[in-house]
Amino acid sequence: MKAVYITEHGGTDKLIYGDRPEPEIAPGEVMIRVRASALNHLDLNLRDGKSYNGALPRTLGCDIAGEITAISPDANSTLKVGDRVILNNRVTCGVCDNCMIGLDQSCSNGKRIGVDLDGGHAEFVTAPAQNAHVIPDAMDFNEAATLPIAAHTVWHCLMTQAQMKPWDTVLVQAAGSGVGSMAIQMAKMVGARVITTAGSQWKLDKAKEWGADEVINYRETPNFSERVKELTGGQGVDVVFDCVGAEIWNENLLSMAPRARLVITGVTSGTQVNMNLALLHNRPLQLMGSGGRSNRTFAEFMKVVHHGSLHGIVANVFPLDNVADAHQAMEDRDFYGKLVIES
Ligand SMILES: [Zn+2]
Repeated sequence: MKAVYITEHGGTDKLIYGDRPEPEIAPGEVMIRVRASALNHLDLNLRDGKSYNGALPRTLGCDIAGEITAISPDANSTLKVGDRVILNNRVTCGVCDNCMIGLDQSCSNGKRIGVDLDGGHAEFVTAPAQNAHVIPDAMDFNEAATLPIAAHTVWHCLMTQAQMKPWDTVLVQAAGSGVGSMAIQMAKMVGARVITTAGSQWKLDKAKEWGADEVINYRETPNFSERVKELTGGQGVDVVFDCVGAEIWNENLLSMAPRARLVITGVTSGTQVNMNLALLHNRPLQLMGSGGRSNRTFAEFMKVVHHGSLHGIVANVFPLDNVADAHQAMEDRDFYGKLVIES
C-alpha cells in the first residue's frame, strides 16, 4: 500500500512516499481504510528525531479518520464494517496497575499510533477496536481527522485540568494553532469569555469569527499582560491555555488573576525559563502540565462532537504524496486550524 514513512531522521527530504506492506489485523483490532490524517507538531519532532528514537522505518500520522474494512472476530465491540471512525491514537493495555485503577493515561505499556506504532499517512492502519470512535454522519473525513489530538488535548487541559467554568475569562495563546483554535471554540462552547493572541491580523479576525471576545497581536503588544489587565478591569484572567512556552512564560504569569490556573501543552518557543518567583509568592496560582489524556476524556469530547457543539477546523488539505509541503506549512505557521493529508 502507499504510505509516508521515514527510515532516518532529518528534514522534509527524509519523508518517503512509497510502498509499505499492508498491516495485518491482530486479535481485538479493526482495520481502517484511512481517508484523512491530520498533522501535528509531534510529526515534525518525530521526523527530525527530537521526540523519537525508536525503531525505523515508521509510517507517520497520529490523527486518523477512515472507515472500518474488517473487524477481528474476537473484538469486543459494537462496531461494524463500513462504520466511519476516528482513532484515539493512545493504545493502552487495560491490565497494568495504572489501567486497573482507572489511570489509563499513565498506562505502563502505553503506545501511540503514528509514533511507537505505524500511523495513518497510509491507505490502511490497524488499531484496537476500543480506540475507534464513530463520527457523526454529517461530518466529512477531513474535518474528523482534525479532532482526535487537538480536541482530546484541549478537553483534557481545559475541562479536566483547569476545571474551566462558564464565568471564567480564558486567555488562549496562539489562536491559529490546532490546539489554540480548538481552545477558543471549547471555551466559547461552555460560555467563558475568551481573550486570544496571534501574530497576524488575519488570524485574529479568524479567531473573532470563531467566537473570541478580545484579540491581541503579540507582535505589536509583546507585553500582552498589560492589555490583558486592561481588558479584565485590572484583575487578570482565570485560566491561561498555553502551547507556546518559554518566550511568553512570565507574561502569562503576569496575566493571571489571583487563584488563576495555567495549563501548558506545548513549548514551541523553547523550554528554559528564568522564572520570577515573586509572581507566585502570596498568589495561589495553579501551574499545570498537560500530560497523558485518558480514554474517558476521549469519550467525553466525542459525546459533544455528536451533540454538534464542536467542529474541526480544516486550514489546508494536502495529498498523501506531498506530506513534505504540509510539514513545511506547519513550520511556517501561516494557517488557522489544522493541516490535513488525504489518503
Ligand atoms: Zn496499562
